[in-house]
Amino acid sequence: MRKNIVAGNWKMNKTLQEGMALAAELNEVLKGAAVNCDVVIGTPFIHLASVAAAVDATKIGVAAQNCADKESGAYTGEISAAMVKSTGAAYVILGHSERRAYYGETAAILKTKVELALKNELTPIFCIGEVLAEREAEKHFEVVKEQIEASLFDLSAEDFGKIVLAYEPVWAIGTGKTASSAQAQEMHAFIRQTLVAKFGKEVADNTSILYGGSCNPANAKELFANPDVDGGLIGGASLKVADFKAIIDAF
Ligand code: PEP
Repeated sequence: MRKNIVAGNWKMNKTLQEGMALAAELNEVLKGAAVNCDVVIGTPFIHLASVAAAVDATKIGVAAQNCADKESGAYTGEISAAMVKSTGAAYVILGHSERRAYYGETAAILKTKVELALKNELTPIFCIGEVLAEREAEKHFEVVKEQIEASLFDLSAEDFGKIVLAYEPVWAIGTGKTASSAQAQEMHAFIRQTLVAKFGKEVADNTSILYGGSCNPANAKELFANPDVDGGLIGGASLKVADFKAIIDAF
């Protein structure tokens, strides 16, 4: 059966020292705690190796927030999937709306990144989601389906089975405006149906689909109670251990 996952996305926050302190605090809080989901933290690249070495890997998985669309070579400033893997990280967040919007990440680029992540035995947490104008035009289902098809539908069912999806309506990210529980469930059920049609019921049933967008301790329980919502990708609230732990405890 699919896993419930609460994954933090620190974005471009925290110096190395601050990040190490945050990771150590979370590690301490989770020590001996009964937790009913997998916990992941997505740190900046430069934190990965130190954080991965400092936390209990049986309790906290570590994620990069991106990786290159090239394997290796003369790509100044880039970080490959193999490099991410070598830090001890097990996951990589790909296709976040901020990367799509600010860094021109197209569906084709993301397709390559997913393939390289899988080749290097990283679990992609692949983000999809519509902008406000698309929802207002009632195009949200179409947009999300197209994002999945364009980057992930050339994968074999076996490889697709290694992916975690995160539905993040862009209008809800960092805005304090959460999708309603009903809106989240409606979209997650639609996504799962889309996966059934392409990869079959077993793969679809085993795919974890996280919700992201202003998820916080006050709304996590209601969101996660939905049958097709298998956890959350958490931005702002992952930067405070008390809030992140409260979201973890929503399971
Ligand atoms: C995100 O960036 O993935 C996110 C969900 O951010 P926030 O929780 O801050 O809306």
